Amino acid sequence: MRFMYGNDIVNPWGTLYGVRPVKRVADMLRAGADEGEIYRFLREKFEISDIKIALSIAIARKELELTKAISPKDVAIYLDIPFCPTKCAYCSFVSMSAERLKEFAEPYLAAIYKEIDTVSKIVKDLSFTVRSIYIGGGTPTTLLAIELDNLLYKLRQSFDTEGLWEFTLEAGRPDTITEQKLSVMKKHGVTRVSINPQTIHEKTLIKIGRKHTTEDIYKAVSLAKDAGIPILNMDVIAGLPDETLTDFVHTLESVASLQPENITIHTMSIKRASRLKEEAFTPDEKNHLEASKMLNFAYPFMKEHNYEGYYLYRQKNTLGNLENTGFCLDGTACLYNIGMMQELMPIMGIGVGAVTKLLRPGRLERIFNVNDVLEYLNRQDEMRKRKDYIYEFYAES
Ligand code: SF4
Repeated sequence: MRFMYGNDIVNPWGTLYGVRPVKRVADMLRAGADEGEIYRFLREKFEISDIKIALSIAIARKELELTKAISPKDVAIYLDIPFCPTKCAYCSFVSMSAERLKEFAEPYLAAIYKEIDTVSKIVKDLSFTVRSIYIGGGTPTTLLAIELDNLLYKLRQSFDTEGLWEFTLEAGRPDTITEQKLSVMKKHGVTRVSINPQTIHEKTLIKIGRKHTTEDIYKAVSLAKDAGIPILNMDVIAGLPDETLTDFVHTLESVASLQPENITIHTMSIKRASRLKEEAFTPDEKNHLEASKMLNFAYPFMKEHNYEGYYLYRQKNTLGNLENTGFCLDGTACLYNIGMMQELMPIMGIGVGAVTKLLRPGRLERIFNVNDVLEYLNRQDEMRKRKDYIYEFYAES
């Protein structure tokens, strides 16, 4: 698919596939290539539009600047809480509804506590410095305040947090956020929280299967600010079902007016295991073009509001074959996002679907946890056992 809309090229990434277009550009910059060479290479080999080449170069430069401080002994911890209040129509993540959560939260937490112990020992034995802890999912704030309190306490007991650069918790769904949970996060030193409205329009929230209102979004943001969590990220999606450019502009303006330190703009992706796909939602040319117009509005808008793009990735089956970009105000970038995207820092993954990434110069290996909660619970010993390989991997260096 490649066609023009006014001056805009749809499918501006040409024939370049893969989730990390910026990695290639960063590698070229590291190797000493100048911008002219990068333009020539990406135009000729992949037919990438000049707008996306310029974007990739700007983000690669930002990443290189931000990741200078990362050393080979730094590590990130990722922990997955795979429960959500309801499943979003576009989601294919491993997530479990609130009803089933009641049944599984307890054994799941018990299992990840054991996996935390395993990882804690490895981190100590191999003398890693934990720089980032990221609790994602799912929606970690579906846990009760007391469960969250215990989990954060467990993490602080298990890892030396002296050298920690950031501690992130993805709250995600505004209707799961309470003053009590935020105060628990603050108490345990969480530095970043995500509240992800995706859209500010209630008609779309209903359509995508969310059970919260626009008002809930404003309330959650105000609670997070009052709690004193230093950095707030908000996610939005360009190209949600039946949304127009005007809807998206309104969402972005509303979110920016809340002045979160980070805004992440995703482009709608039709994932295989999502409800949208099951309902045979097939985007047409108009959907692709509308998403393209949305991003064309977003980049200058973000710049005018002092947000800088600092990481970018692509997914399959995205409208217009477009990208997802994380923006930040100066000094508020999330290093985990860059380190993970550009594979610059090893990651110890804990919980269902978590991926452990091991890095050595010229070598990257992954250890996968299973993707299903029940299977994870049934095979939890095996998941921990798989991590023995980490010793072997680093013994060879
Ligand atoms: S909140 Fe996130 S993980 Fe949960 S269902 Fe929605 S998209 Fe999926």
